[in-house]
Amino acid sequence: MTDAVEEDCPVCNSSEDAKAQFARANVAEHLKEKARRDEAHRAWINEHTSNGTLAEIRSALDEHNRPRH
Ligand SMILES: [Zn+2]
Repeated sequence: MTDAVEEDCPVCNSSEDAKAQFARANVAEHLKEKARRDEAHRAWINEHTSNGTLAEIRSALDEHNRPRH
């Protein structure tokens, strides 16, 4: 039942620790899968990508995880 991916997901768990430990590929798939039924995940994808592909989600997570200077 425990889904470790959810702990790394920015929607399920927004703690700084989780953000620091992203397993990007898994989280991207998790976001895309959950977005089918969960509005918070869909909103995150809409906000961070233009067409919601896995590649775009991954790169959005990459930026999300890296502070801009
Ligand atoms: Zn999630």
